[in-house]
Amino acid sequence: MEIKKGIAVSPGISIAKSLIIDSEDYLIPRRAVDPSQRTDEIQRVRDAFAEAIDELGRFEAAQDQTSSKIKDIFAVHMRFLHDRSLRKKITDLVQSDCVTAEYAVSSTLREIASHFTRVKDAYISERAADIYDIERRLLKHLLGKKREDVGRLTEEVVIIARELSPIQTAGFNRQFVKGIASDAGGRTSHAAIVARSLGIPAVVALEDLTALVSGGDTVIVDGNRGIVIVNPDEQTTEQYRQYSREFEELEHKLDAIKEKPAVTRDGTKITLLGNIEFPDEAQVVLEKGGDGIGLYRTEFLYLNTDTDPTEQQQYEAYARTVEVFGDRPVVIRTLDLGADKFTQSRRFAPEPNPFLGLRSIRFCLQNLMMFKTQLRAILRASVLGRLKIMFPLITNRHELMQAKMILHDVMEDLADESIAYNHDVQVGIMIETPSAALTAFSLARDVDFFSIGTNDLTQYTLAVDRGNELVSTLYSPADPAVLRLIRTVIQDAYKAQIDLSVCGEVASEPEYIMLLLGMGVRTFSLAPPMIPEIKQIIRSVTIEDCNKVARKVLSMNSERHISSYLRSAARKILPEAF
Ligand code: PEP
Ligand code: MG
Repeated sequence: MEIKKGIAVSPGISIAKSLIIDSEDYLIPRRAVDPSQRTDEIQRVRDAFAEAIDELGRFEAAQDQTSSKIKDIFAVHMRFLHDRSLRKKITDLVQSDCVTAEYAVSSTLREIASHFTRVKDAYISERAADIYDIERRLLKHLLGKKREDVGRLTEEVVIIARELSPIQTAGFNRQFVKGIASDAGGRTSHAAIVARSLGIPAVVALEDLTALVSGGDTVIVDGNRGIVIVNPDEQTTEQYRQYSREFEELEHKLDAIKEKPAVTRDGTKITLLGNIEFPDEAQVVLEKGGDGIGLYRTEFLYLNTDTDPTEQQQYEAYARTVEVFGDRPVVIRTLDLGADKFTQSRRFAPEPNPFLGLRSIRFCLQNLMMFKTQLRAILRASVLGRLKIMFPLITNRHELMQAKMILHDVMEDLADESIAYNHDVQVGIMIETPSAALTAFSLARDVDFFSIGTNDLTQYTLAVDRGNELVSTLYSPADPAVLRLIRTVIQDAYKAQIDLSVCGEVASEPEYIMLLLGMGVRTFSLAPPMIPEIKQIIRSVTIEDCNKVARKVLSMNSERHISSYLRSAARKILPEAF
């Protein structure tokens, strides 16, 4: 029996056999094959090319006819895939060096790509990115079976990985994936957020867990305490079965309060909204008793396809979500691509500091076609309900003004085409950079609402990568520096009389609720499975209790003291959750 302590990122307990999966970036070691297998490997190369051509042909046919840029890219990829000399170079390598099809594909294409980058001509050097795309496409077909294992599960498993991407996590089938444990990751890394949204117990930052587990080992994931146990003994397994039953009972008890309002004991009404990544989750928010959507992370529409979603596909996703909620709010956040989401894998040369790089609204402002396509889809859906638009990662007023100007351009285009949209659609921003927090008083003049994104605000205030387990002990929204910024934003929103919510993970964490209520927050947007628990806390406290907690915390100067004080205050209210 091996016990590992990591960071608990999604509550619940699971006990199942392990399934170890690779990262999305294929690592292809040089592996020799027996000379007698060369013919089979050469056939695998040919099959992978044929499947890739077939797949690309299907994507091409499904593309919007007007999207000529995408068609050009497809045409370039097709030309490479049909190039006989390229295929021959790869099969010759299998023949001469007795290597696997994967290795031959990868090393040949990488060699060509590095050749391209050295050419001075910009057009040719940019083709390197196409070569990497083709490599990924071929590898996907060669390694397809292994990858499909996760999609085709027939029994319950705990997924073990070095690191998971948000999109891998989002693809897990909840029926069979009962737990997740990874070597890397942090409390608010996007894969962790997705696990929480899906309600799958998860623990990250387990360092060398993958070295300790073999496929098929029994693993316990304790997402409440951040513990993973490999090959537990009989007594430990029994103890965890008992914990698991108790946890399920608590969940049922909490689900029963779903119809009751989120009102404090002294009568203050609180709004609880859900954070979602996919339209299907809107239903879960309703089932858990949420009042609407406070954060729709629309970039996930981009993460699980090989081609960019069209305006119509985006419109349909937003329309479906808005229609579920009728006259209740649905806040659609514009694309927050970049950093750990999507753009790096498409770049030829990765950015040196992607979290400080071309991310989020910055990426959109440099990719206007993509941005405008999304804004058209959002505006078209705005007539269907109470849709609001939110721009992420604003760092200064100029950026906000640019984003609003583009929104107005798109509105004019729609008006010219006689396409209906809501002229009074509310526009807000996320406050998730220290610069935005410190200038909130000025930004407030140009928006209808703020939503505080504490995940990034904590990361940028403390200069701690939110997904890096090596510095995870420094990452804490309870740090006095972060709390001072949150307080400033709340006060500035109040003075400007605009709406304010908190949509970072703190809104899902029981220990932060009293503090945030005491600081004046009245709207929370959180992981849907956590809504009942947070509602229970709200229904058990008075605003006066919360004000006392906030006063006390804001007079403290140590993160450790604040964290332990908050934990003990929340434990008194909802002991079962701890
Ligand atoms: C945040 O940064 O707090 C936030 C809610 O956005 P995301 O987690 O998607 O970066
Ligand atoms: Mg963010």
